[in-house]
Amino acid sequence: MLYIVATPIGNLKDITLRAIETLKSVDLIACEDTRHTKILLDEYGIKTSTTSYFQHNRFAKGEYLLGLLKQGKNIALVSDAGTPGILDPGYHLINLAIEQDIPVTAIPGPTAFIDALVLSGKPTHDFIFAGFLPNRTLARQNCLKELSKQKRTIVFYESYHRILATLEDIHKVFAGREIVVARELTKKFEEIKRGPAEEILSSFQRQSPRGEFVIVI
Ligand code: SAM
Repeated sequence: MLYIVATPIGNLKDITLRAIETLKSVDLIACEDTRHTKILLDEYGIKTSTTSYFQHNRFAKGEYLLGLLKQGKNIALVSDAGTPGILDPGYHLINLAIEQDIPVTAIPGPTAFIDALVLSGKPTHDFIFAGFLPNRTLARQNCLKELSKQKRTIVFYESYHRILATLEDIHKVFAGREIVVARELTKKFEEIKRGPAEEILSSFQRQSPRGEFVIVI
């Protein structure tokens, strides 16, 4: 069985009893970053062996893990944060397992965009999750223009490198629309900012933003 195990998005206490049980009982844990996951495993006294499975080794390592699964081993897949498969290499391994008829199950838990969507106060019954917007300015602006045709709540991820540029682009495309920026969810400096993009932008310009972000429009 391949177990897709959700892990915390910041607060180490956000892990389910089933996730801990599963991580203890499997033969191997495939981690996006073994050093990062070790902190979680140490916290819960989990001694299971780990191996790396990340963006750049996903093809070769995916085949290797698939071989082990075919021999009857149980493997848990975890990412650096949240639910594997949501914007991380888990997607590739899940598909390999599905193609090869290997049973896959998920141990559900945190994922940053659901936390942000719920905290945003925006309609949650009909929304679009847009992942990460393109890096390049023109492509990002075009993507936002396309998204502006949506009547649904729009949710996407952003990194601190691009947050100011993205807020500028949101201001250009959605001028005046109230948006929500959720930063460092579940962590010590969790912060939710609400208002037009230009207001949030100027507050971040006063104090350079750090951390991880989810934007809700
Ligand atoms: N698998 C993860 C999940 O389930 O949410 C997402 C992985 S993706 C590579 C990383 C992005 O998720 C970050 O750049 C940020 O936009 C968002 N993210 C992850 N943890 C977060 C947190 N604690 N607060 C805000 N955003 C977070």
